[in-house]
Amino acid sequence: MNQPHDLVLRNAELVVTMDEQRREIAGGWVAIDNGFVTAVGPPGSEPDAVRVVAVNGCLITPGLINTHHHIYQNLTRAFAPAMSGNLFHWLRTLYPVWSRLDEEAAYVSAWIGLCELALGGCTTTTDHLYVHPSGSGDLISAEIAAATELGFRFHPTRGSMSLSEKDGGLPPDSVVQTDDEILEDSERLVRTHHDPEPGAMVRIALAPCSPFSVTPELMTRTAELAERLDVRLHTHIAEDKAEDTFCQETFGCRPLEHFEEVGWGSNRSWVAHCVFPSAPEIERLAAWGTGVAHCPSSNQLIGAGLAPVRELRDAGVHVGIGCDGSASTDHASLWLETRGALLLARLRGGPEAMLSREALEMATLGGAGCLGRTDIGALAPGMAADLVVWPMEGVAFAGALTDPVEALLRCGPVAARHTIVHGRFIVEDGVLTAPGVEQMLARHRGIALDWAQAADAL
Ligand SMILES: [Zn+2]
Repeated sequence: MNQPHDLVLRNAELVVTMDEQRREIAGGWVAIDNGFVTAVGPPGSEPDAVRVVAVNGCLITPGLINTHHHIYQNLTRAFAPAMSGNLFHWLRTLYPVWSRLDEEAAYVSAWIGLCELALGGCTTTTDHLYVHPSGSGDLISAEIAAATELGFRFHPTRGSMSLSEKDGGLPPDSVVQTDDEILEDSERLVRTHHDPEPGAMVRIALAPCSPFSVTPELMTRTAELAERLDVRLHTHIAEDKAEDTFCQETFGCRPLEHFEEVGWGSNRSWVAHCVFPSAPEIERLAAWGTGVAHCPSSNQLIGAGLAPVRELRDAGVHVGIGCDGSASTDHASLWLETRGALLLARLRGGPEAMLSREALEMATLGGAGCLGRTDIGALAPGMAADLVVWPMEGVAFAGALTDPVEALLRCGPVAARHTIVHGRFIVEDGVLTAPGVEQMLARHRGIALDWAQAADAL
């Protein structure tokens, strides 16, 4: 007799596998063992399991993958003094506030931020932590501790800034480090935490913040280090028109030309935003194999422009979805961002520009492509067991009978019924499984209050 599986989810309204054939199985089931999907199938063939969970009326999708975030910024959400400026004004207002970041703040903000992501159907997230004030401690290890405690699949990126105001950059001296300090710490973090194996729960990438906050030498040396350590590269690019002017004046070229010159045009890289690439630059991104993290709410709130997602996808660029930092987006629901991607694509290109399945594909397989992973983003034997059970019921979904995948993003709002990472429930029946959420929220509030008071923003 066959061993029973660890867990079987059955009776789904639809299982959206995102596998190679893009199978969608009405009434289907998913079997999980040791953190991996071992089988999926149609009704009537459900195998035995130690635990069986019926998910009648629900849609099962692969877990959503967040390709760009600055989790610590949830300590400065909707920060009143920065609400009406452009991107550079917003950054200049917040850099001094963020200079208070320490290990406690990194840990608590990550803990709360990852909970928020899990409730919104996200199972893997990256985090771009680029503020490392002197004496602040080991911030990345602090947030990895939170992810490990919660059981979240985590790709923190070792962000950095080395070009301060006195050198013609944007950030103040208090939050920048030297190139040598940054590279040494990057290597230490990779050696301590990075797991290259399939099913890895933690991978590190290297991530100088942006062309206007690091030296070209740091970009070049970071690319060389990533090659040597075989890890990925991440940065912001072409987020705002002002960046074109800055790059032209400082480096004598466009942002993506600079990106190529410093050795980043490669399939090791994925970039955040990419709102202003030219048509030839889109072709080059595709030829390099460089991924793009599209951040729909951030694009809208910053108000500088919308990324040319249709053109990027048509050129063959891996496009993932990102919620971006809480201080620009102020929420971290990947469901909402995926819906946002659908709406913006149609706003830019008309009703034929995108359907829900493609938006969902960006949020799953597109994200996996950005992170260089082939073991997440789809539900098929051998893939990591990261999945979301979405309730498609009640008032919000009344009448949505003919296409549950379109309904998922057109109806709503919806949060995850169950969020499962590596076979473990992080959200169960809509509730976080981790103990101590209230206590952690109180710690978070205490830090956010301190920061706001210190900035005289209350
Ligand atoms: Zn960002």
